[in-house]
Amino acid sequence: MITVERPVILVVEDHADIRELLRLQLEFDGYAVLESETGERALDLLRSCDIDLMVLDAELPGMSGYDVLTAMSRDFPTIHVPVLFLSGRTSTDDIVEAFRLGAHDHIAKPFRGKELRARVAAAVQLKRRHDDLRRENVILDSVSRTDSLTGLGNRRQLDADLHMLTSVARRHDQPFSVALVDVDHFKAVNDTYGHSAGDQVLREIANRLQDTLRVEDSAGRWGGEEFLLLLPMTDLPGATVVGERLRLRVAGESIIIGDGSHIDVRISVGVATGVDVPDVLVRADAALYRAKAGGRNLVTA
Ligand code: GH3
Ligand code: MG
Ligand code: MG
Ligand code: MG
Repeated sequence: MITVERPVILVVEDHADIRELLRLQLEFDGYAVLESETGERALDLLRSCDIDLMVLDAELPGMSGYDVLTAMSRDFPTIHVPVLFLSGRTSTDDIVEAFRLGAHDHIAKPFRGKELRARVAAAVQLKRRHDDLRRENVILDSVSRTDSLTGLGNRRQLDADLHMLTSVARRHDQPFSVALVDVDHFKAVNDTYGHSAGDQVLREIANRLQDTLRVEDSAGRWGGEEFLLLLPMTDLPGATVVGERLRLRVAGESIIIGDGSHIDVRISVGVATGVDVPDVLVRADAALYRAKAGGRNLVTA
């Protein structure tokens, strides 16, 4: 990808004189200008460069401007490059056709330079605002799936991942496992050391869960002091091994919080294997209940 700070305009025009005129005017306005004589080359440039706006002539040798619009929406439905369509054909039907095929704006030939530059500026500004919004949306989407205390995926993320795991497991008839982790007597940590200490303990447990997992596994905060581990393509003995490793990792070393207190915590883990939610979760929950009933600091399948 070529990325330039200045907005990049691709001028697709077979007439050298008009192309040159457009280039000079647009460069004067502060744009970086790429040029193409043909629709075919324009599509290549669209593929390889980061373009903010295309000025597209209707009449071209080979592919017409209309063909280029058609190819863009067919081959690059996710590339959001607005097109200012330039055409000597100014019947209402011709103009409507350009918009129908995806043009953003239309200007009749012969055009007035001042008007064309104003339309280019407006379209580029809108494109940049759309790009900003899309970027912000990506960030918001990630924030909405992240637990703010631990940085792990939250319930929303876990639900989406479980949905995905289920469809893959069903399609390939390949079960996955989950491990439901619950901190033992966590209420006592809050009661003894305070809520902020409890938060620090949850954060540290989350770190330990995360760095004990294999790359293909993931961990999220299911709620409160419960975490859920998703273990794709893992059978019950495999999941039990993972649960046991986590249990030892948490129990093996005190958690030191900000004021220097050493806090010993334990976890109980319920594991289950299957191809379906909520069935797998219900069974993991039942297993967890048995780990608690069996004395805690246990992994139960
Ligand atoms: P058990 O061994 O049976 O699981 O006992 P427990 O004390 O862990 O279970 P219980 O469900 O009674 O208590 C869970 C506690 O977790 C109560 C709640 O205040 C605390 N908790 C839940 N979310 C948070 C949090 O985000 N921060 C802190 N500090 N505490 C939390
Ligand atoms: Mg032409
Ligand atoms: Mg609990
Ligand atoms: Mg608990």
